[in-house]
Amino acid sequence: MANAQTKWVPEHFIGGHPALDLANAVFNRRVPQPDNELLKSAGDVGNWFKASGLAGAREAEAVAGIAGRPFLKGIHAIREASARIFGLLIGEKPPAAEALGLLFECAAGGLTCGAIGLDGTRPKLAPARWQDPDAVLAVLAMLSIEGFFTLPRDRLRSCPRCGWLFLDTSRGGKRRWCSMRICGNREKVSRHRAHE
Ligand SMILES: [Zn+2]
Repeated sequence: MANAQTKWVPEHFIGGHPALDLANAVFNRRVPQPDNELLKSAGDVGNWFKASGLAGAREAEAVAGIAGRPFLKGIHAIREASARIFGLLIGEKPPAAEALGLLFECAAGGLTCGAIGLDGTRPKLAPARWQDPDAVLAVLAMLSIEGFFTLPRDRLRSCPRCGWLFLDTSRGGKRRWCSMRICGNREKVSRHRAHE
């Protein structure tokens, strides 16, 4: 189990905001695969923080050392609540109240007890707090909330092939795929095959 760690590559971080990258930490959101989960251990979570640039090596190691299933379950719950809300926003629907409530509750807990601070609108963790599961969960909840209220909704997209979310920063606003290299080409390949 411990040797099946996710190897994070730059393609995992094409969202344009950490909350979108977190939502994309599943292999395929549109058509879940048998081995769909990319955050399978606290080690995966720690490495994700490091690869995303949100944490340094020492902080990532502290996250990786957090023991117990509840932490991982909490990470998944925050990711799924966040992905659900972004999906609704893309569909021009209001965010689901219970999903939003879960994220506010988690973020508020971290803020009121001083586990997380704020740097502008971004959550900030003191170095010693990275080993605190509630503080790490609060950071992710706060990042998601920040994303809901700051990202331009008319630029939020969901890849039609894999369901990954991203912010379309192209000039014309016509970006369709999470990555031309991954999904754009796959689409081309399958279309070519259909004509053969
Ligand atoms: Zn895609």
